[in-house]
Amino acid sequence: MSYANIIVNISHENLDKTFQYTVPSHLEGTVSVGDYVSIPFGKGNRQINGYVMELTDTPAFDPAKQKEILSIVKDADPVESKLLKLAAWMKERYGSTMITALKTVLPTRKKIRGQEKKTIILVPDADTAADQLRIFEQKHQTARARLLRELIREKELDYRLVTSKLNISPATLKLLEEMGILRIDSERVYRNMKIEASDSMKPVLNPAQKKIADSILSDLKQNKRKTYLIRGITGSGKTEVYMEIIEAVISRGRQAIVLIPEIALTYQTVLRFYKRFGDRVSTLHSKLSEGERYDQFERAKKGEIDVMIGPRSALFTPFGNLGLIVIDEEHESTYKSENMPKYHAREVAEELARLHGASLILGSATPSLNSYYEAMQGNYQLFTLDQRAKEAHLPEVEITDLREELKKGNRSIFGTSLREQIFDRLEKNEQVMLFLNRRGYAGFVSCRSCGHVMTCPHCDVSLSEHRGGKLICHYCGYEQKSVTACPECGSKMIGGMRAGTQQIEEQIKKIFPQARVLRMDADTTKKKDSYEQILSAFANREADILVGTQMIVKGHDFPYVTLVGILAADLSLYANDYRASERTFQLLTQAAGRAGRGDRTGNVVIQTYQPEHYSIVYASKQDYEGFYTEEIAYRKLLGYPPVSHLLAILCESSEEEKAEAYARQISQVLKKAIEDGQSLSGLTEYDIINLIGPADATVKKISDVYRQVLYLKAQDMQKLKTVKDLTEQYLEEHPDAKIRVTFDLDPLHGY
Ligand code: ADP
Ligand code: ZN
Ligand code: ZN
Repeated sequence: MSYANIIVNISHENLDKTFQYTVPSHLEGTVSVGDYVSIPFGKGNRQINGYVMELTDTPAFDPAKQKEILSIVKDADPVESKLLKLAAWMKERYGSTMITALKTVLPTRKKIRGQEKKTIILVPDADTAADQLRIFEQKHQTARARLLRELIREKELDYRLVTSKLNISPATLKLLEEMGILRIDSERVYRNMKIEASDSMKPVLNPAQKKIADSILSDLKQNKRKTYLIRGITGSGKTEVYMEIIEAVISRGRQAIVLIPEIALTYQTVLRFYKRFGDRVSTLHSKLSEGERYDQFERAKKGEIDVMIGPRSALFTPFGNLGLIVIDEEHESTYKSENMPKYHAREVAEELARLHGASLILGSATPSLNSYYEAMQGNYQLFTLDQRAKEAHLPEVEITDLREELKKGNRSIFGTSLREQIFDRLEKNEQVMLFLNRRGYAGFVSCRSCGHVMTCPHCDVSLSEHRGGKLICHYCGYEQKSVTACPECGSKMIGGMRAGTQQIEEQIKKIFPQARVLRMDADTTKKKDSYEQILSAFANREADILVGTQMIVKGHDFPYVTLVGILAADLSLYANDYRASERTFQLLTQAAGRAGRGDRTGNVVIQTYQPEHYSIVYASKQDYEGFYTEEIAYRKLLGYPPVSHLLAILCESSEEEKAEAYARQISQVLKKAIEDGQSLSGLTEYDIINLIGPADATVKKISDVYRQVLYLKAQDMQKLKTVKDLTEQYLEEHPDAKIRVTFDLDPLHGY
């Protein structure tokens, strides 16, 4: 690589403004992307610094006219340099242009007006405040009560936290201010405000927690960099362990990034970190404006904060000396980006940790097969926590076989047991959560009598019902006519499943007219903060039953929930991808974990047409290892991740024939390359690369764009990278403005 494209002013607006320089012979092989280099610039050859954005063998203009890089700036290693390196890694691994990758990791700079930071302070003494709280509660003024309760506990609160996370309207605040209950102080700048970081918030770790913390801390002291996986049931105290390690990292002058799925990024969680670390914590979430996000990143760069909490994009916080990354609920699929480059936060975190010499802690009650597999291979160090930190009992789980219910003539969505138990809880004034496992519902067809599901004879996935009476497999293209009778038992009760949360809400109201019901799904949470609002209302016991999709699995603790019903546990099994069982197991286990968080024991009822399915059986026993053993054997057998790797190549065009023709051409090029692999380094063992397709994508057309998909399977990730590079080369040589090609390495869902 003899030429370097250098960027002198790194920001979104200037990413396409690069200058090419020659790499002098004495620097050849030592310069790499991201390096901060010194160059002669402009007419007067003024010496300035810039970043190497790309290295190439093809000169952009006459090499004789190019200037040479002077030197690599050794003593300075700006944060941007690491971000550039990370972007280059992402571009290589996931396939995208360097500019797209850079735009992913660099914050946008936008002019922001000076923001006024406000604090809410409790005015009356504790007794008066408590009296007032009782009045609010009696009058069912829940928002006021919620705020006052929090204020009594905290004495003062950040205005923005209150409006965004506690869902208190400015009008309510104004009213309480007029009532003399609170004071809004806008003089103290938030970042200087002391949310007293206090040790009183720090529990004494129990022996199981301490063992983990000690082990990680000892590595930290010896500067050993590792990836750890903590498998710990919900409530087992993982967060306390994270905080213990973060404290040690900060005390060594380094910083920490904590990733939490956006949906679990609730007021309670964030407040715990603020209480422990005070004002050196900052949070990111998708509702921040570009300017606010940029402001947070600037603070990080200036060294004003030590801990950044946020969803996957928080990874790109420009910390100078990152010491630790924590990924909580690491199995969550929201850690994978849906945009190019389609990166997985766990993988990027590993690379980022490597660049900084930092450690990585992954935590989950139900780790992804990927992470557990890595742990089993000895690449991650595994810890387990299988007791709840505060003495609480694990829930009792029972399975209802819906086929039996049907035989008894019960066609309602509630089995006998669940219905009886709901009545019981309503009587006892306890709360119920009903979980509709609707995710992954993709038009699969099943028999209501025997539970048989129409699957592809060549792949272990369910067939999808298409209009025109066809059943299609999206992995191999197999198709057959739709059926009117079950091929197993002959029953005519075969067909697609359709039951939404709304229908369920209506049924609940019919069967339990006395119950107050809240519904949470994509429809009811469209409005900003409505998610948090529904959960707060339920936590305040403004409803008896909360019914919802997988959204309700996360977030708040509900001490009065003593019954969790999972209405159609198998629904997610029929999604047409290889991770269906894993996702089902995770969803069921997490949902079951919601029951009995207080001092009451909880009950869980799993209703299913397939009670014998291993993901349902193991979830009901809360047996992760049992599930893992069975699932990993299946992945091995069929060559799916994490044992093998899968690359999806998606070709899109507004013209159907174009998409098809282009995908076919790519597949021919790849086929040929695989066949005479000896000419290509890395593709010599052609027989272990599998090419599937091209075929119509599951959703063949989205917004008038036709989609064709190709899958490549190989044990060696390097081979898939070669395939990707080859495809990129083909794209470069055969440009077509009407075609868009994207890559997805180890996709979490089918295309
Ligand atoms: P997880 O992150 O595994 O869900 P948390 O760290 O949130 O678990 O802990 C669950 C609850 O138990 C929290 O209310 C937490 O404050 C409390 N807790 C955790 N560890 C301890 C401990 N060692 N002593 C007392 N309470 C604890
Ligand atoms: Zn049948
Ligand atoms: Zn198939």
